[in-house]
Amino acid sequence: MTTTDPNCLFCKIVAGQIPSKKVYEDEQLLVFHDIHPWAPVHVLLIPKLHIASMAEVGPEHAALLGHMTALVPRLMRELGVTNGFRTVVNTGPDGGQEVYHLHMHAMGGPRPWLKG
Ligand code: 5GP
Ligand code: ZN
Repeated sequence: MTTTDPNCLFCKIVAGQIPSKKVYEDEQLLVFHDIHPWAPVHVLLIPKLHIASMAEVGPEHAALLGHMTALVPRLMRELGVTNGFRTVVNTGPDGGQEVYHLHMHAMGGPRPWLKG
């Protein structure tokens, strides 16, 4: 199983080759601020394991994705988000995915940024 891709932007962030504003890290996950935030608080949760997209996810990743998802409320609270948040996973060309290393956007803060 491939665990890292030397050409992948987010694998380079995991490896510390590209700097990021880290919010949280453990053995399995890294969370950092999005470089172009769409919301007052906008972080990206990524597995350290290189998984290109949600389209590659299978049952073997259930615990990892559960861990990632379950972390969101705690991180949002710690980042001062008290009134709700949005989580997004873009997948593939028609899903608007730009970086092909699985990531979950978690966005919060006062609402005017959120349309629709
Ligand atoms: P996608 O469209 O693939 O779901 O989102 C990729 C996200 O990664 C975008 O919101 C973009 O701003 C963010 N991003 C792209 N390059 C970098 C980077 O080098 N550092 C950080 N922190 N975020 C990045
Ligand atoms: Zn990667």
